[in-house]
Formats: sequence, structure tokens, C-alpha cells
Amino acid sequence: MLRLRQTLPTSSLSLEGEGQGEGQRPGQIRCGGSSRHLFLIPALSRWERVVKRFLLLATVFPASVNCIAQAFSFPTANRALLESDGEEKFFVGTVGKSWASGIFGCVRTDGQQFHEGLDVRCLQRDRRGEPIDPVLAAADGTVVYVNHKPGLSNYGQYVIVRHLVEGLEIYSVYAHLSEVREGIASGREVRLGEHIAIMGRSTNTRQGISKDRAHVHFELNLLANERFPEWYRNNFPDQRNDHGRWNGQNLLGVDPRLVLLSQEREGGRFRFLEFLRNQTELCRVVVRTTSFPWLLRYTPLIRRNRIADQEGVAGYEIALNYTGLPFQLIPRSASEIAGRAQTQLLSVNEAEQAKHPCAHLVTKRGGRWELTRAGLRRLDLITY
Ligand SMILES: [Zn+2]
Repeated sequence: MLRLRQTLPTSSLSLEGEGQGEGQRPGQIRCGGSSRHLFLIPALSRWERVVKRFLLLATVFPASVNCIAQAFSFPTANRALLESDGEEKFFVGTVGKSWASGIFGCVRTDGQQFHEGLDVRCLQRDRRGEPIDPVLAAADGTVVYVNHKPGLSNYGQYVIVRHLVEGLEIYSVYAHLSEVREGIASGREVRLGEHIAIMGRSTNTRQGISKDRAHVHFELNLLANERFPEWYRNNFPDQRNDHGRWNGQNLLGVDPRLVLLSQEREGGRFRFLEFLRNQTELCRVVVRTTSFPWLLRYTPLIRRNRIADQEGVAGYEIALNYTGLPFQLIPRSASEIAGRAQTQLLSVNEAEQAKHPCAHLVTKRGGRWELTRAGLRRLDLITY
């Protein structure tokens, strides 16, 4: 059973702003003991109020907020990932490469290029050999975007569904579709396992996807920033953005293979939040900014710091994994931040960088580690 119903041992909080209304829908996540009116701190900014409320709740009522969580399921009927040596049947590799080039991670261009999802192999074909696998919603959620124009994306036709998992907004992506089911449009609620589309091989890349390699490209993401369109215009004034905030660059992936395998292994003990918190650190930075959307949307990733509680928050220390996903944030007071730069690199896990270099977030120059342009850009997007 991949669908779990469980009581979390620690608290979670329905977030203000976008996605808030999803908290009470059956089958998703139900968090009791709303704290909305318990801790009002009028002198603080909206972000600080929300963050403080969450941290106070976690401290004062560690077991009082019960959430019924759900896990993710497979995006098609192909579940060979769970079989021993089933990878060959589950993943599609790139042309001339093994299945291992169809997984999430530094698996393209000799490890130098990042593939941010799973390429799940086709099981069913019509008489012409075209894929016809039903594509299924990986969890209960709400459709937030459908791209019907394959020419506008290397994802081809794609669908994005928002899920609320343990208080976290998670976005699943289903790409290269041949057909999106009628009625599947932004705002439509879907249930786990619901048939939302048909597998295809749509894309705007020059080489295309052969019948042989037909697959659904499946992602699980966190949303970097709802102000992405403005950020993108400022950073890439000459480039088009046809998809608003639903541009792939604004979606920060976690490895769906590890999520699915961890769920299978841990059963009812699996916690998505713990999975996120347990990412391996690539580097640690500090940013001198105190209000940005990530703090509001992913409050459970913030750790408490009593010094910053007492002295006031002057910035955030952020741990990033090798893909550039911020998975731990610690508020820091002015007295705890050395140096004056807006963004500073504090440390690098050299073994992790050697193992997974493809996001090119840090580099060594003259014997010293520094953030690359890509690293600085990622932090700029997160804190914009
Ligand atoms: Zn792919």
C-alpha cells in the first residue's frame, strides 16, 4: 500500500497565501489545532509572524497538531521499480545509453548535465506502436497548469498538479503527453490514481523522442518563487517565458525514485518532511535578507535559533543539496553573520560536489571555494 494514513508526531501548519485552502480536503492532509489566532505579533513582518508562529507551535504543542499524510504513487501502471532488478523495465535511457540515464540526477552528458525527473517506460501501445499508457495523478491535489502546445516546451504537452503533503506544497509534473484528458485544467481537483492524460512523446527538441523511447517524464518539485516571471524578465530580458511561474526553472525537483523507494521500504513510518530534511548537504550559505516567499511556503524547513529570537533576524543560513534545493534554513542575528556581502558561501561538502557536480553551483578558484554564477542565481531566485 502506497497510500498512507498516519498521525504525525510533530506539528505542521497550514500556510497562509496560495494553497492554504487545500489543507482541509479529505484524503490530503488535515491539520487540527489551527494556530492562526494564537500568536499574533503585530510589529513583525508577515513572513516573520508566520515563521515565529510555526516555531512557537512546534515548541509549545509538539504533539497537538495531528496531520493525516499521504504518500505519492506511480504516474502510470508501470511499477517495475519495486521489483528486484526491475530498473530496465521501469526506466528509459537516452539514445544509446542504459536505463541509468533515465533516472533523476547527474546522469546526462557524462554526469555533467542534470535530469530533473524520471523517464518512466511505456507499457501499452496501439497498432502503430504509439504509447497509450494512462497517466495517473500521483496523489490527491489540484491541477495548476496545463500546456497544450508541445512547440512551447521541451516538456511537450505537460500537466502540473499541486499537492499539500505534511504542510508542504509539492508539485508533480507529467511531461511529453500525447493527450490531456478533457476537463483536466487549472483549478480542477484530482484524486490519487486519477487518469489525467495519455502518455506520448511530445517535445520541442530537435531530435524528438522515438517510439522506442516513449515515456512519461515525471517530477516531484518544490516551487522556488511565485515572483518568477518578474525575476526571469529581469535576468533574461531577451528570452521568452511562455509558462509564467510554471516554467521548469521555477520548479526545484526532489528525486521521485528515492521517494517511491523510501515509502515502500518505510511504509507508515515514511515522512516526506523528514525525507526533505535528510538531504545530503552540498554547501551552506548565508543571505542577508529576511523576507522571501520560500520562508512562508516551506516554513517546516526552518530551524529555530534562540539567539536570532532574542536579537532579531538579520538573515538566513541556508543548506543546499547538490541540485540547489534549500532544505534547511536557520535564522541568524546580525551578531552571528560575519562579513558584509549580501550572499556568502560558508562551507562546501567536497565529497558531495565530486560525486554530483552537474548543477555547477560551486567551484574552486585559487584554492578557495566560491559560488558560481549558477549558484548565485539560484539563491537570487529563492530570495527574490
Ligand atoms: Zn526526462
